Amino acid sequence: MYNLNDKIKKLTPYDPVAGTYKVRLDANESFINPGKSFEDKIKKAIETINFNRYPDPTCEKLRNAFGKAYSIKPELVVAGNGSDEIITILLGAFLQIGDKVATVAPDFSMYGFYCETYEKEHITLAKKDDLTIDVDSLICEINKIKPAAFIFSNPCSPTSIVLPKEDVVKLVKEAETLVVLDEAYMEFSNQSLINDVESYDNLIVLKTCSKAWGLAALRLGFAISNKKIINALNAVRSPYNVNSITQAIGTIILSDLEYIEDAKKQILMQSNELYEILSPLKNQYIIVDDEKSVEILEIEKPDTNFVFLKFKNNEEAKLLYNALLKKSIIVRILGNYIRITAGSKAENQQLKDALKV
Ligand SMILES: *Cc1c(COP(=O)(O)O)cnc(C)c1O
Repeated sequence: MYNLNDKIKKLTPYDPVAGTYKVRLDANESFINPGKSFEDKIKKAIETINFNRYPDPTCEKLRNAFGKAYSIKPELVVAGNGSDEIITILLGAFLQIGDKVATVAPDFSMYGFYCETYEKEHITLAKKDDLTIDVDSLICEINKIKPAAFIFSNPCSPTSIVLPKEDVVKLVKEAETLVVLDEAYMEFSNQSLINDVESYDNLIVLKTCSKAWGLAALRLGFAISNKKIINALNAVRSPYNVNSITQAIGTIILSDLEYIEDAKKQILMQSNELYEILSPLKNQYIIVDDEKSVEILEIEKPDTNFVFLKFKNNEEAKLLYNALLKKSIIVRILGNYIRITAGSKAENQQLKDALKV
């Protein structure tokens, strides 16, 4: 009889939300679907694809478009099948078996998941009680532990808190490790280090098209680093990792800078609206059913497309989560925290109605 190995037996699978809900505010996707406004261009581009041929292994056009959009040399860019794939390349192929990888908590849950599947020794460092990072003590801990890599998101998901650029620079300069800086939400803030990658020998910036660009369906992400690291990433990744359809559509949309500027504005507006809906509820009791009510202890003012709420305990978070779910509104629950993605005006209104505020 074939027995699955212990690693797989122990693994807690990532369980993304499936099924249909009236309002989906759980995955930090954009409420804007560019498929509609780019329909003609997309159709034309797809007609020219040679479906019998492998995709361009270098993603040249796509990297050129990305380079223009972010004012970065295309040769400093690697494309991936979502930034998730890039994280798997980094943790799986770039690092070695058993290497230590440090993260902070709370942060993007997939870092820990891939550490487990790729057999890295995962070390989680604590944030301060207010969920900000004290960069000096972080550097000190990293240099004690000596991990092969430190990976974190800035702005952070789930907290939406941004580490100021000067702190990130200090971290990259003083932490004696590879720093993987996941800027999945940096379109909504202004502390990016993407244009500084050539100044350091130990910095990789990650980007995704799943959030601000509204292209989660495409599966498209990027790593940006110095030439030496980019060459190494190209050497270890699978050669045809980004399919031709994604390359074609990604190139079209990444080339439209007006689209992204407008999308950012609209999303930030809705994110602020969501914050305005929720912030009067801080320290108020929200009735979730006939007998029970829950209290929101903290609400972060977002620098992102989502709002982060803190509750007294896991039970209270779960009560609100379930009350929203009953109304077919899905949000993300993480222990005693809830993260709610900014929806369209109509979606935010439905959430507001569900909270009876
Ligand atoms: C959404 C997200 C990603 C994943 O992006 P994909 O390109 O869709 O794989 C990576 N990091 C963070 C912090 C995210 O929130």
